[in-house]
Amino acid sequence: MDLKSGYPFWAIRNGLMHAFPRLREDLDCEVAVIGGGISGALIADELAAHGHDVAVLEQRDIAWGSTAASTALLQYEIDTHLAELRQRYGEPRAALAYRACAAAVERLGEVAADLRGVDFRRQRSLYYASRAGHVPLLREEAALRARHGLALRWLDADELAADYGLRAPGAILSDCAAAVDPYRMTSRLLARLRRRGAGVYDRTRIQALHATSRKVELRTGEGLRVRADRVVVAAGYAGQHWIDQRLARNRSSYAFVTDPLDADDLQALGETLVWESARPYLYLRSTGDGRLVVGGCDDAVDLPARRDRRVQSRAQRLVRQVQQRFPRLRLQPAFAWAGTFAETADGLPWFGPHPQHGPRVLFAMAYGGNGITYSMIGAELLRARIERRAHPLARLFSFERTVG
Ligand SMILES: Cc1cc2nc3c(=O)[nH]c(=O)nc-3n(C[C@H](O)[C@H](O)[C@H](O)COP(=O)(O)OP(=O)(O)OC[C@H]3O[C@@H](n4cnc5c(N)ncnc54)[C@H](O)[C@@H]3O)c2cc1C
Repeated sequence: MDLKSGYPFWAIRNGLMHAFPRLREDLDCEVAVIGGGISGALIADELAAHGHDVAVLEQRDIAWGSTAASTALLQYEIDTHLAELRQRYGEPRAALAYRACAAAVERLGEVAADLRGVDFRRQRSLYYASRAGHVPLLREEAALRARHGLALRWLDADELAADYGLRAPGAILSDCAAAVDPYRMTSRLLARLRRRGAGVYDRTRIQALHATSRKVELRTGEGLRVRADRVVVAAGYAGQHWIDQRLARNRSSYAFVTDPLDADDLQALGETLVWESARPYLYLRSTGDGRLVVGGCDDAVDLPARRDRRVQSRAQRLVRQVQQRFPRLRLQPAFAWAGTFAETADGLPWFGPHPQHGPRVLFAMAYGGNGITYSMIGAELLRARIERRAHPLARLFSFERTVG
């Protein structure tokens, strides 16, 4: 699957950080994780830290899938409003999903704190109304979130202009958010895992998967055999190939990064993620060295050749969109890129077994705008399942939920 176009910034900035071997002989382990992106890394780390014998198998270089293209805004906010999730699943479950995302942002901070320099920075999140007509809906959403203990306040148009230089009719400013370098975090997690004795193999493609009632057997492209008690398919958007049922829609999202800006230009954007109520939405964040990363202009369908052609023109369109909202900002893209991005109908991810493969094959499909936050929840959820413990989100984030 061709997942990205152009020059994803993190891979350029960091290069190939660690060398991993390819698999050269048959392997037996307790849990085999297919996929060496941020999901596979967080899941393998969580399992290994709790005594499980784990091996990670990646067909490309580590972190070279969607993780390299991610803009990595870490948010408790799901693309689907809490009010809409409440309508679908009832208020307790909807609120549980939102609060779990807030806890996952904190947990990602704890994981990052144990790694060297992954540019994890706590932020606030500004969710602005794209049109005056969206204000009542957002105010209602803010009140509902506040009722469930999420720390936020409402900013009106004058406050947005004064504090952010933003032209918008109103916004929810939330305390809980963060940003990270996802490529570094993944590489560092998997290098540490390898130092601690786990198998981490790249350039190793899993071609076939066969589950019985006792084991799961994998075959690599080179004909090697991997036998495991359980397999976690953390194959990103390619995970859809293993399931016949249509689970998500693939879109393309475009992004660029600037050179470092002056602190005077960045102002409050240095500590605030920004996104909006229009769909598709514009989103932006800063980096530790003072750059702005801007994303959006999504295509409704992901066509890799078209995505390749559009990288530069979409970057220019994003520049214009930012300038309309932040007239004081003069941005120049330094690197631009695009990537595949999958969305489920309700904005929630899928973690757990699918009837097509039985209970020993666990999927980790962190699909949606806050995929990395979902991956953190998924790591804990899948460990609970492997250890036969209950997890409060096991049902809501599983294939059992019905999606309209
Ligand atoms: C432009 C863009 C912006 C985004 N912005 C954000 C954001 O701001 N915040 C956020 O939280 N999320 C964001 N996302 C989503 C986020 O990037 C993803 O949720 C996340 O990277 C998914 O990680 P993953 O490990 O599941 O997938 P990947 O990083 O794709 O990792 C899966 C790996 O599995 C490997 N693989 C697949 N099949 C096989 C096989 N058969 N054998 C061996 N290996 C295999 C692939 O090579 C790949 O490396 C964005 C995505 C894009 C494209």
